[in-house]
Amino acid sequence: MARLLEWFIIHPAGQPPSRRSRLSSNVRPHLNLRVVFIAAFLAPTIAAAAESQCYGSVSNGRIEGSVKLPVSGANFSAYSALAATAGRTHVHSKVAAIVEASYKALAAAHPDTRYVYGETGWPSGGRFRPHRTHQNGLSIDFFVPVRDARGQSVPLPTNLSAKLGYDVEFTQEAKYGEYTIDFDALSEHLYQLDVAARAAGSGLTLVIFDTQYLPRLFATQRGAYLKEHLPFMKGKPWVRHDEHYHVDFAVPCKPNAA
Ligand SMILES: [Zn+2]
Repeated sequence: MARLLEWFIIHPAGQPPSRRSRLSSNVRPHLNLRVVFIAAFLAPTIAAAAESQCYGSVSNGRIEGSVKLPVSGANFSAYSALAATAGRTHVHSKVAAIVEASYKALAAAHPDTRYVYGETGWPSGGRFRPHRTHQNGLSIDFFVPVRDARGQSVPLPTNLSAKLGYDVEFTQEAKYGEYTIDFDALSEHLYQLDVAARAAGSGLTLVIFDTQYLPRLFATQRGAYLKEHLPFMKGKPWVRHDEHYHVDFAVPCKPNAA
């Protein structure tokens, strides 16, 4: 692919040599456009070929060559375009591929269900306040999929609150205003994440979700699978995980330099 791109840059519009040399000092805009278009088309493929390198652990680590998650797709969006621009949604390339594969599978099976992802980590990893982990590109927070008063699947309105959704508090009945947690959609997402991770030779190493909601999650169609295969945190996490679920992925990292 890189070679192909190079060829297009050297031979912008397949012009004969004499014409090309005349154009080289005064490249026409449409030729530039063609190169830009081809570059834009090929760039993600080239970027995907370079794998990220993580170091250390989720609670003490960093990452090189991380990738930024897409701000939105057919059935998902970031919790905040601003936070994404600020660089808070970077992950390991392998994790990005798993997340995108899971959203694709969900879009095929349940095209009307909307998902929102939250904080992941800095481009170079490291301390990521206020989180205790999220340091080496292997952690992602996902906001709970919800249904509104009419029963429609809608993105949880994370942009409206001061803490970008993290201060949203759901009741014991899994309600927040007109929104109700969609446990079927949530369980399907965790299932697809696990399937995509395994297919990529990875896996989920930790899932944190409010223990009071776990019985409702396990009561869904995918519940038995999740209960058997997913590593849910048993104890009490340091912050309540009612509005989001945290997932760590298994990717081998190099040790932190001494
Ligand atoms: Zn988290």
